[in-house]
Amino acid sequence: MIYLDNAATTRISDEVLSAMMPYLTDKYGNASSSHTFGRGIAGTIDSARTIVAECIKAQVDEIFFTSSGSESDNWAIRSLAYAGLVNGKRKIVSSAFEHHAVIRTLELLQKESFEIILLPVYENGVVVVSDLERVLNESADDVAFVTIMHVNNEIGTIQPIEEIGLVCNEYGVPFHTDAVQSIGNVEIDVQKQRMGLMSLSGHKIHAPKGIGILYAKKEFELTPLIIGGKQERGYRAGTENVMAIIGVAKAIQIATTSILPKNEKLRKLAKKIMENFDKIEKSKLNGDREKRIGGIVNYSFEGIVGDMLVNTLDCQGIYVSNGSACASDSLDASHVLLSLGLSREMALANLRISMSEYTTEDEIDKLINAVPVVVEGLRSMGN
Ligand SMILES: *Cc1c(COP(=O)(O)O)cnc(C)c1O
Repeated sequence: MIYLDNAATTRISDEVLSAMMPYLTDKYGNASSSHTFGRGIAGTIDSARTIVAECIKAQVDEIFFTSSGSESDNWAIRSLAYAGLVNGKRKIVSSAFEHHAVIRTLELLQKESFEIILLPVYENGVVVVSDLERVLNESADDVAFVTIMHVNNEIGTIQPIEEIGLVCNEYGVPFHTDAVQSIGNVEIDVQKQRMGLMSLSGHKIHAPKGIGILYAKKEFELTPLIIGGKQERGYRAGTENVMAIIGVAKAIQIATTSILPKNEKLRKLAKKIMENFDKIEKSKLNGDREKRIGGIVNYSFEGIVGDMLVNTLDCQGIYVSNGSACASDSLDASHVLLSLGLSREMALANLRISMSEYTTEDEIDKLINAVPVVVEGLRSMGN
């Protein structure tokens, strides 16, 4: 099989698996127990938290383990919204192409009387900082917070979050970013980038599914979503998912120390894909050609149905996607592609390739041999 859907999920790396293994077997204690066996586990969780904090330049007590990137997004946004309410601030600024974990939460808050302001992302899929400045200039006093993702999961474009963080800081507005797709591809330094809160997920970076991280700078008070025991310093109840916590700390350590070689390799492969797909008639690269990570390449091919393209490649053992995994069973065109100004037809005529450090040049060669033939075949059949 040729797996090119790493933006949906990734394989667990061998190093991560072996770091986790003892906690699936012998080391099964509960960190809340007061005996030595339990305290040992608590110590291990502390070390994992220290590793994560160091990798993103945060303080140890600013790191919270959650069940997923989705939970981290929900938690950050809910907390900032409640804090805003207390201060009479009811506007939230975001972008038009956030992940559903952000969008759906914002939609609920809209029903709860918040006003959502979505910044445009233009044809190249990049937020323009002066748009944010304009909004904050007009109504910074009413803005509860800003949430803008770092790297878009469908098209791979990188948002100027350091500048966004700077502007938010100048206006005294809290800033949350969903960095699920950027960690390991772009440097994350929560201080330099002036992030107030940031969401991460394990299974996009070769850790297991079911583990997420929320970074929250000390000045921001989180509102617990899950109530019960005193885990996560009383902010998130539930016995810790110890093995996954060990796994995600290991994965972040690897991801943040191998950015350069990974980038070099994936950019080269992405360039090869783009050179070949550009030659296909009536093809269109979605998202900026330069301001992107190497790992995600997204094209539309006029006159075809993306689902048919994905299914035909599937029959050849090549696993790719169109739209995001969360939306791909619906007939709705991707909100991300529509936000770039694509027609519904072009948004549906779409293919996303997402690579990881395990992707080989041989796999990409097979992909670029297959796609032109499949596209031509589908076009000649009229779909
Ligand atoms: C996958 C993803 C999420 C959700 O993370 P889960 O751990 O799967 O809940 C959030 N944001 C982005 C950008 C993602 O790619």
